[in-house]
Amino acid sequence: MANGCKPIRILRVITISALLLCAPLAYFVAVIGFHLSGSFVPGFVVGGLLMLTYLASFVALAVWPCPQCHRRFVRFNAFWPRNCSHCGQAC
Ligand SMILES: [Zn+2]
Repeated sequence: MANGCKPIRILRVITISALLLCAPLAYFVAVIGFHLSGSFVPGFVVGGLLMLTYLASFVALAVWPCPQCHRRFVRFNAFWPRNCSHCGQAC
């Protein structure tokens, strides 16, 4: 595993975490916020921030260069990219 793989692994975890946590966490915060303040706004804020986090990390992961061949590591259709789409470098 090359040294340049750490940002790719971090972006991969952030991307999938934001995707999976967005709906349940927004729902949870919306329910709690409605009981506390009578408003769904906190749920929308949390959901929106997680969606922006997902979008930003997805784009960063999609354009991040491979540590070995310096071309884009990921193709857009990869769900959990472990190998470079050009040279096969594992990260
Ligand atoms: Zn590569």
